[in-house]
Amino acid sequence: MKILATDMDRTLLPNGSWQGDDGAIELFNELTGQFDVLVVYVTGRNLALAEAATHEFGVRPPDILIGDVGTTIRKHEGGGWHFDEGWSRHVKRVSPRWDAMAIREAVAGIEGLREQEAEHQNPFKQSYYADHGRREEIIAAVSERVEGRYDEVIVYSYDSMDDKGLIDFLPNSATKQTALEYVAEEYGCDKGEVVFCGDSGNDIFPLTAGFSGVLVRNADEQLVENVRHAMEQDPDLKVYFAKGDFKGLNGYYTSGVIEGAYHYGLFK
Ligand SMILES: [Mg+2]
Repeated sequence: MKILATDMDRTLLPNGSWQGDDGAIELFNELTGQFDVLVVYVTGRNLALAEAATHEFGVRPPDILIGDVGTTIRKHEGGGWHFDEGWSRHVKRVSPRWDAMAIREAVAGIEGLREQEAEHQNPFKQSYYADHGRREEIIAAVSERVEGRYDEVIVYSYDSMDDKGLIDFLPNSATKQTALEYVAEEYGCDKGEVVFCGDSGNDIFPLTAGFSGVLVRNADEQLVENVRHAMEQDPDLKVYFAKGDFKGLNGYYTSGVIEGAYHYGLFK
């Protein structure tokens, strides 16, 4: 089984400031069907927002949706979604000290930190907006109150479209990386055979975890720097940087995903 996993916003979806290629999404839909790859979207979006995006941009539904930054897994079968309860059980077992409400209390009152709307929270995800200009002091305050107490990870990412900092508290067993590892294992696919494409922030974990990584050409400078640094530390990491000028495609967003999939031989 070949697995093509990709982040959605500004990786698969052309919703950033660069110009995407006309026809790239149609080509992605066609190639993923033609070459019979298992398509996994790995996103911070919840189910409703992921579906809204597939409709808005005309991308095919995934076979598997890893949503809410890795805290939920759903399979698309028979035209409907099936929630993976096994994943939730696994997370509870592996991160026994996880406690979203305790984290909520712990970070209450930190200046520049604002809880996100209810639809962005779930039992394994406690999420905030953060004042990006003050991110260092916010992260320091958050770390002091939370770090190491709840089997958690704290993920900071930056939404360049809205100039907003985002902080997610997740169980350390439920990230984009661990959810994709779980899916790969279920389908009997070696980690190195799984292609993962990303562009920013929280994509650093799956990009440096031993999958076959792809950075689309519009990837954040900071992510590029972090990935290059990780590659220096670990020469076995495989990451491909989409550059464009490939089959008439420019390497941004969907085009970068297609270029990366060809690079690793998923389409041939
Ligand atoms: Mg993204």
